[in-house]
Amino acid sequence: VVHDEELLIAVLNSAPVEDGTRAEHLGGARGGELAVRFGGTGSALELRRLREMRDALQRVVRDHADPAKALGPLLGDAALTPTVTPSGIHWKPPADRDDGLAIRTAMAWSAVTEGLPGRLRACANTECNLFLVDHSRPGTAKWCSMATCGNRAKARAHARRHRAT
Ligand SMILES: [Zn+2]
Repeated sequence: VVHDEELLIAVLNSAPVEDGTRAEHLGGARGGELAVRFGGTGSALELRRLREMRDALQRVVRDHADPAKALGPLLGDAALTPTVTPSGIHWKPPADRDDGLAIRTAMAWSAVTEGLPGRLRACANTECNLFLVDHSRPGTAKWCSMATCGNRAKARAHARRHRAT
């Protein structure tokens, strides 16, 4: 698991399709909780920056948008400050920036993309707005979750076979 991979997936998966409509989990108290869980403040501005970064990252991962165009403007003049620890140097956006968490999310996207090439992808169910990092050995995982989208696809394939015979 790459550093901040959990943050990346939490942000990417914060607009799930529920009962046919796109839900927003990066707003209000729920969004605040998510931000605080990952070291943010949960302020309205921070959540807005996170939503912008999420939408840009979704376009990059799912629609193969040009990362330079999609992410560049959101990173702007981002600067990182070092914290030296026995296990290495950790670079973080200054804590007083509202876009700190959004920048960390973009850095996590970069780390996952470099460390696990091709393993970050959108769920193969086009009606689902969730994403996954495929840690399986063969690298063929297609679904955000086998329990939901995977089984639904299996049931559909089964019904198709049934009709065909
Ligand atoms: Zn799915």
